[in-house]
Amino acid sequence: MSFNALVVDKDEAGAVSAGVEAITEDRLPEGDVTVAVEYSTLNYKDGLCLGSGGGLVRAWPHVPGIDFAGTVEASSDPRYAPGDKVVLTGWRVGEVRWGGYAQKARVMADWLVPLPQGLTTRDAMAVGTAGFTAMLAVMALEDHGLKPGNGPVLVTGAAGGVGSVATAILAKLGHEVAAVTGRPETEAYLKGLGASRIVAREEIAETVKRPLESETWAGCVDAVGGAMLARVLGQMKYGASVAAVGLAGGAALPATVVPFLLRAVNLLGIDSVMRPYEDRVRAWSRIAADLPMDKLTGMVVPARLADLPELGKAILAGEVRGRVVVDVN
Ligand code: NDP
Repeated sequence: MSFNALVVDKDEAGAVSAGVEAITEDRLPEGDVTVAVEYSTLNYKDGLCLGSGGGLVRAWPHVPGIDFAGTVEASSDPRYAPGDKVVLTGWRVGEVRWGGYAQKARVMADWLVPLPQGLTTRDAMAVGTAGFTAMLAVMALEDHGLKPGNGPVLVTGAAGGVGSVATAILAKLGHEVAAVTGRPETEAYLKGLGASRIVAREEIAETVKRPLESETWAGCVDAVGGAMLARVLGQMKYGASVAAVGLAGGAALPATVVPFLLRAVNLLGIDSVMRPYEDRVRAWSRIAADLPMDKLTGMVVPARLADLPELGKAILAGEVRGRVVVDVN
């Protein structure tokens, strides 16, 4: 029995091709659990894996898709049985392993989490790796003392996947959210998610000139990195924290250590890929409780497998708004 997969291939000259193909189950990688995938999604990393691989993909042909949700079809692990609804994010699935851009995926049971109560498989992929990571970032800020009433919380790359979900969660929790965007046309969208203030990217993108500026932000979820993150560090309130999630604006950090030494600012690293199981379950249950579903629905851009090659280019160009949810069937 064959099923559809979005297969990316690279020839000897390095030319990449991508298209939907019918493949058979014997081509799936080894694993304990076979999942009938219902939905996957599009993250920045997927954009890389849909193209030349960005150093993440090791072997072609490759099936990308760093996250998926679906129903267990077969399992040799006692924790999962046919019919169970499951979610997968991370563990380098969709990068070094075949991922969720297919009607079937085979993975290790350790990498799965049960679908949280109150979410459908489509909801879970509207959240996806981007939203799951946004929740991890908010949890890290809370663990370091962030509370509603402390002051405005900055979200960078706000109209993207991580930023959109972070904005909606923080606003629901009662924080005043300042959303940084390079796309002024997303203002109504961001305010609809709960942002009370829009900060133009240019206002905050310039390289650090003074190591300390006025103490403005009580917390920050940063999806951008680079010069913007460096600049934000000098604008944090005393003792406040920045959760470093992404590098959409660059991997360098042209900062000084002064905000750490004179303002006790914390820079918190957020990794979603190797996150232990207990943290994953906690984050997903917080998502089910603290992410308003009506806001989530408003972020969704629906797509099919065949749309992915074009969408991959769009996310790398910073042109995707919110969360793309891929119905693989
Ligand atoms: P998106 O492309 O959806 O969002 C990124 C946003 O960043 C864009 O929408 C844009 O927001 C902004 N942006 C893009 N380019 C620039 C630039 N040159 N300068 C300033 N801002 C820019 O990606 P995701 O939300 O899926 O991911 C965001 C980042 O987080 C990526 O780097 C990704 O790799 C990383 N990530 C990390 C994870 C982890 O485990 N640490 C997990 C998931 C993602 P706007 O248009 O509003 O300005």
